[in-house]
Amino acid sequence: MSDIPKAYDPGKIEEKWYDFWLRQGYFTPRIDPDKKPFVIVMPLPNVTGDLHLGHALFVTLQDIMTRWHRMMGEPTLWLPGTDHAGISTHVVVERQLAEQGRTKESIGREEFTKLILSWADKNRDDIRRQLQLLGASCDWTRERFTLDEEPSRAVRTAFVSLYNKGLIYRGERMVNWCPRCQTALSDLEVDHKDIIGHLYYIRYPIVESKGFVTVATTRPETFFGDTAVAVNPEDERYKNLIGKSVSLPIIDKAIPIIADEAVDTSFGTGVLKITPAHDPTDFEVAQRHNLPLVDIMNTDATMNENAGPYHGLERFACRDGVLAELEDKKLLEKIEPYSHSVGHCGRCQTMIEPKVSLQWFVQTQPLARAAIEAVKNARVIIIPKRFVKVYFDWMKNIRDWCISRQLWWGHRIPVWYCQDCGRVTASVDEPTTCIHCSSKKLIQDPDVLDTWFSSALWTHSTLGWPEDTADLRYFYPSSVMETGYDILFFWVARMIMMGLENMGKVPFHTVYLHGLIRDKSGEKMSRSKLQVNAMNPAEPINNYGVDALRFALIMGNSPGKDINVGESKLESSRNFANKLWNATRFILQSLDTEKPEAEALELQPQRIEDQWINGQLNRLVKNVTELLKEFQFGEAEQQIYDFVWSKFCDWYIEIAKIRIRSRLIPSPLPFLANTLEVSLRLLHPFMPFVTEELWQSLKQRLSDKGPMPASIMIAPYPIAVDKAFAPEAERVMDSVIEIIRSIRNVRAQYKVKPTRWIEAQVYADELLSGLNTQANIIETLAKVQPLTIFDRQEREPSKDKAVVLVLKEAEVVVPLAGMVDRLAEEQRLVKEGEEIKGRIAQLEARLHDNAFLSKAPSQVVEREKQKLAMLEDKLKRLHQELSQLS
Ligand SMILES: [Zn+2]
Ligand SMILES: [Zn+2]
Repeated sequence: MSDIPKAYDPGKIEEKWYDFWLRQGYFTPRIDPDKKPFVIVMPLPNVTGDLHLGHALFVTLQDIMTRWHRMMGEPTLWLPGTDHAGISTHVVVERQLAEQGRTKESIGREEFTKLILSWADKNRDDIRRQLQLLGASCDWTRERFTLDEEPSRAVRTAFVSLYNKGLIYRGERMVNWCPRCQTALSDLEVDHKDIIGHLYYIRYPIVESKGFVTVATTRPETFFGDTAVAVNPEDERYKNLIGKSVSLPIIDKAIPIIADEAVDTSFGTGVLKITPAHDPTDFEVAQRHNLPLVDIMNTDATMNENAGPYHGLERFACRDGVLAELEDKKLLEKIEPYSHSVGHCGRCQTMIEPKVSLQWFVQTQPLARAAIEAVKNARVIIIPKRFVKVYFDWMKNIRDWCISRQLWWGHRIPVWYCQDCGRVTASVDEPTTCIHCSSKKLIQDPDVLDTWFSSALWTHSTLGWPEDTADLRYFYPSSVMETGYDILFFWVARMIMMGLENMGKVPFHTVYLHGLIRDKSGEKMSRSKLQVNAMNPAEPINNYGVDALRFALIMGNSPGKDINVGESKLESSRNFANKLWNATRFILQSLDTEKPEAEALELQPQRIEDQWINGQLNRLVKNVTELLKEFQFGEAEQQIYDFVWSKFCDWYIEIAKIRIRSRLIPSPLPFLANTLEVSLRLLHPFMPFVTEELWQSLKQRLSDKGPMPASIMIAPYPIAVDKAFAPEAERVMDSVIEIIRSIRNVRAQYKVKPTRWIEAQVYADELLSGLNTQANIIETLAKVQPLTIFDRQEREPSKDKAVVLVLKEAEVVVPLAGMVDRLAEEQRLVKEGEEIKGRIAQLEARLHDNAFLSKAPSQVVEREKQKLAMLEDKLKRLHQELSQLS
């Protein structure tokens, strides 16, 4: 008797098999110098919390690749890790503190980082559990956290090396400042949103004469920081004003009127206020004209002493005050509605303040040049191709990368300032003396590095760099970098730059960019929107099982294409797992009943249907392997699905049942067992749990055939046997299936009861003898008796009324007399005809009624006419059917 339960219960088997794999150490590769390894370094989930479906997608894709390569016998490393996610973590833990009425300052740096660390540890455990739940076959013995000692040392080493080369510098530059997070952000960490705001026209009195110039600005409160107003030198309206000066309202400070070609004469009045400390464009104008910078804000976006009477006010409160005062002084000319794009903090959504500030930067252009070359000469291949251009565009226009963050959580910048000579010591290990003057009075930079700085080193820092370790030598560079296209620049581009810089070799050969998971409204699921829309994978896992979730995520998936995962995909995935389960149960039961000897399980395809299923199976293996090589996971999965569901379950197993029932020799059992076993291995990377469960049960029955591996996950991935292709048998079976299908259609059309046998004749030429061998199958599956198969040459016009089906390689004649009880059918048709006639008469009367025609809207009349035409057509067809009967 079969020992697998009647119904498939995913929850029961998932944990069991994951533990088994883990205990056996299958996830940990052995270094084999004779073999080329397959390596994926996992994109780092943030320690900030629960995983969402986007994570489930990347886990599934990477696990498919990993399991496939492992089954191909390659030493396979999938290296997991988590990211300390500097600013995101800060935001979350600060919020938690705020709920208790505390701040990070009130508990201090040490206490605060300890608090984050314990919180992060707990989250890392959760993340690990969730990845394991999804079946991720990654090597947990090599798991890394960005703040671990080794990756941290790599970060300091990379920093010091770039600093010594002059590629890291400290300077006063315009940065994106988040007043809430109190830190600088890189351009990539800023979300731009369209805001409907106002354009304020403010009058600045001219010093040398009476009158005003009017400037238009979206941010009136910033005028305290103006150090000039600028006009275009070609602008006739203002030519005579160049060189004169204006007086800033409220604080009565004189600033020059300058000419600069960058001024757009069509914006506002054509006079631009120049606020170099708070606007990136103005900053550049100021550099050209040697204008001073006047910073008017504190780091929390309250106004500083440069704002005169508004000192201490929050920036928007200051705006309200300034506007009222200008209005009073009649210096506010007008206000227009104006929509423009405004930067917001990617983590906390506070409005960004562009601010000149002293920060650390990586000079990226020299690094980008090498990274552009690597993609140009295909040392790194990006899939899908359309992202190559995006990559080049961004890399060519790359700006220096601001890497310092005014946070407490992260890698502290390895730079010490000398209290005596004022110079900088950059060092991997904590220095005891200043390298310039040997003073012992050193203070470390309080800031930490951008999280993406450590992420950029991930492909080599996880393998031991800067040490020359066995892992680094063997597993670098990795094979595939699989990630979402949304972090191409944050991460992928920077990994290429830093990999080339530190290792002299590209960090990976292929970049595979998957699409983003969209929720029902088409919104991207993201970390910052977690609470709002991220579907937790726990729900579909509970309802459908991990395998079904994984299968649904890959369904219809192609590189770079965004994905929706709805209930229907999940349902059909679960149904597929059920189908496989039931097919296996049937095969196991048959094996138990028949108890075939080992030699009886040898594949000797004598019969056409056996040759056919074996040929189709090997074609499938060949196709799937090709598709996996091309990263076409969705299509590979679809082909396995179609084969298993239709060819194997719906056709071959049904045919095999006939043979088993009638105890025909040879038995189909070897082919049932083999097709199932190979299909399970093919499917394993996609649905690891159910395939392992079924394969283990099957393995027990096949043990006589010789030793088999302890687990499907270390069994070899199927290899196509070209000589198994059987074009002749495939042609015959295609025709057999077509014949059965078309007879079934005719039965449905004539509402023939399922139990009723009908008569049919098949006419064929080349396939005549082949079809003759399959006559029994056609009879049983189409419920046809007698079935006669003739040579097409001998075809005579049939005397009786019959349905004639012209198929690809055969013709099928189904006499009507056999299908229908003539008298009953005649009566049914006559009765139906009478009904239709009655309705036609009603409609005709209506359409001839002038009262109706004059009152009814034309659409109604049109609808009635259509109804009439339809009924008339139906009546005509009824008559045809009647005449065929008699
Ligand atoms: Zn922020
Ligand atoms: Zn010194």
